[in-house]
Amino acid sequence: MSSPASPVTLVLENCAVVTMDGQGSEYASGHVVVTGKVITAVGTGSPPPGSLPGPVSADAVSTGTIRRIDASGCLATPGLINTHHHLYQWGTRGMAADATLFEWLTQLYPVWARMNADTVRPLATAALAWLARTGCSTTMDHHYVFPRTGGDLLGATIAAAQQVGLRFHPTRGSMDLGASSGGLPPDDAVEDRDAVLLASKAAVDQYHDDAPESMLRIGLAPCSPFSVTSELLTEAAELGRRAGVRLHTHLAETADESQYCAEHFGCTPLDYLDSLGWLGDDVWLAHAVHLDDAAIARLAATGTGVAHCPSSNGRLGAGVCRTHDLVAAGFRVGLGVDGAASSEESSLIGEVRQATLTARAAGGPRAMSVRGALELATMGGARLLGRDREIGSLEVGKLADIALWRLDTLAHAGVADPVAGLVLGARPPLELLLVNGETIIERDQLVTVDEREIAASSLRAVLSLND
Ligand SMILES: [Zn+2]
Repeated sequence: MSSPASPVTLVLENCAVVTMDGQGSEYASGHVVVTGKVITAVGTGSPPPGSLPGPVSADAVSTGTIRRIDASGCLATPGLINTHHHLYQWGTRGMAADATLFEWLTQLYPVWARMNADTVRPLATAALAWLARTGCSTTMDHHYVFPRTGGDLLGATIAAAQQVGLRFHPTRGSMDLGASSGGLPPDDAVEDRDAVLLASKAAVDQYHDDAPESMLRIGLAPCSPFSVTSELLTEAAELGRRAGVRLHTHLAETADESQYCAEHFGCTPLDYLDSLGWLGDDVWLAHAVHLDDAAIARLAATGTGVAHCPSSNGRLGAGVCRTHDLVAAGFRVGLGVDGAASSEESSLIGEVRQATLTARAAGGPRAMSVRGALELATMGGARLLGRDREIGSLEVGKLADIALWRLDTLAHAGVADPVAGLVLGARPPLELLLVNGETIIERDQLVTVDEREIAASSLRAVLSLND
């Protein structure tokens, strides 16, 4: 065993490396060296002797001071970053399969209102474990249904993330506009505004960690214009800014939402948010599908970010996000799998493929390059979460969040461009997934949790919801 004074050095060598740094550095056969939590060398060929702690003796290897991995046939990329999700929705997959967003929500709200910490914990664990299997090293969560007798739901998701080992940015979501007040959710699925604000402040005080290597940061996330009052939106933004945490919400997802805002507020969803002080570089919005040119210009001018969720938009028939225009306008854009119940696959590398194909189907073959799509899932996500100095690329000094994809199996052997193979092809096996230098997946198997046990416990949770 190594002591804290002599962290293990991990050497990945003989692999293709796509760094996603600002220069677009790539190496056909290169190395990545990790010491403790941090990347200490990246480059072509073998690692330079100075990047290793002394000679790589058989003794150093056998005692575990240095671990060398011959990664021939693999591609090293930054771990992927998921910027929109609802982990608890793992428990309602396969429902309302051919519905619009409002129909789907109306059918699922009552099931979500029956959840508690005992059901959310295994559902979130399953969702996180699956995300890891698809190359995700950092994820946010947007939990917004807090039944009165549900217990500590946010704590349940945080415990799940700590168990699986992912870097976690949960947001304290909320709804306070029930059906009797003109909202979409039933009254028993919403909370009192003061309770939301108290719980939001408590979540920040208890959990938010601003340290550079932080594994846990909190955000605040009232759900949507049709489930939250303007008072809560305004006060949550004020609270978040006082506390120095990021703000998140759904916006401009469907035509139905645009119609709802026109009828209730006399304006577009974006103008509504703008009027409540909700645009800025500390805000990122999920979806942003239904935007005209003026809305895109306004969002760009305020530095507001967007989490693009193409699979969910496709499953719900919500529309096609103008990602090419958003990127061209200088937006911070990341990718999100969205809740498991509206994307079903919940694969982050799958979302990179979907983003590429969706953009090209709408805007032609040059609307999204394969490297541009991978950028959304790496540096794009890091920028949305305010972590671009710490994660999102393979560079010396950055945290060791690394995905090592195996590209020499049946699905990919012989592919001319490893990035094209990763983005456009089938999901490759993950040879290794590191988060903060810790191994989460090895040889395409989770090492932090037992996959079969998680599947069984998530099934029990689903059955309990239907009792
Ligand atoms: Zn969502």
